Amino acid sequence: MRHSDSTGSRSGRQGAFPAFPASPLPRRVLLTALGAAASAVVIGPSPAAAAPAAPYTLLTRRDWGADETLRFAADGRELWPPEYHPVQTLTVHHTADGSTDPDPAARVRAIYREEAVGADDYGDIGYNYLIDENGRVYEGRWSGTDGTPAHDAGGRLVTGAHVQGYNSGNVGIALLGTLTDRPASAAARATLVRLLAELAERHRIDPLGKVAYRNPVSGVSRVAPAIGGHRHWANTDCPGSLYTAMPSLREEVAALMAG
Ligand SMILES: [Zn+2]
Repeated sequence: MRHSDSTGSRSGRQGAFPAFPASPLPRRVLLTALGAAASAVVIGPSPAAAAPAAPYTLLTRRDWGADETLRFAADGRELWPPEYHPVQTLTVHHTADGSTDPDPAARVRAIYREEAVGADDYGDIGYNYLIDENGRVYEGRWSGTDGTPAHDAGGRLVTGAHVQGYNSGNVGIALLGTLTDRPASAAARATLVRLLAELAERHRIDPLGKVAYRNPVSGVSRVAPAIGGHRHWANTDCPGSLYTAMPSLREEVAALMAG
C-alpha cells in the first residue's frame, strides 16, 4: 500500500551530508541484474550458485510504458526531483490496488498514474520495484539516466514513497495484488527472494539481521529487520500474508546468498 515520506522524500532538500563512496563491487555475477541497462533483460543464475533460482525478466520504465511526462508540471518543472542515499534496509509490500486488469503492465501504469498525478500526487510511482504474479520485475521510481534501476551510478538508492517517514535508504519492493487472504504466487515469491538476495549482497545487508535505521534526511531512528514488511514500520496490513512469511523468506534469501 502507498505511503509518502513526509519527512524526507518531498521536502526538496538534500540536506548536508557527506559524500558517500560508491558501493563496493559485487562479488558475484548474481548482481548483474541491478546494473543491467538493456530492456527486458533475462537474468540467469550464477554458474556457481547451488540454489536453482529461476531467472526473471526485468521491465524498465520504457518497457512497461511509463509516461514520463507525468513527472513534470506544465511549465517543465520536475515534480519530484530524485534524492539518493545509501541503502540501509529492504521493505516488502503488496499493492492492494484492487485492480482486476489481467495485464500486469497496465496495472503498473495505473498505479504509477495514481501515485504521480492522482490522489497521492507524488510526481512518480513510490515503489522502487514491483513484481507481478508471473515473477516479472518492473522498474519503479525513476532513478536517473545511468540505466541502473532504483540506483544512481554510485550505487545509492533513489528515495521512494512507500513507508512514511522511513523512505530514504529504504528499498520498496511491491508485489502486485492484494495478499491479505492468499499467498504470493510461487513465481512472484521466487523472484522476490532473488531480488532481495541481489540487493542484500550488493549493499552488504545481513538478510537475517536487524538494522539500526537512521533517516539521513530527518534523523529519525528505528531498529527494524534488515528485510522487513511494511507492517514492521507502520500500523498496516501490508504486505498481507507475506508478513508471516517473512522469516522463511529471509532464510531463503540467506540460502541463495550462501549458494
Ligand atoms: Zn505497503
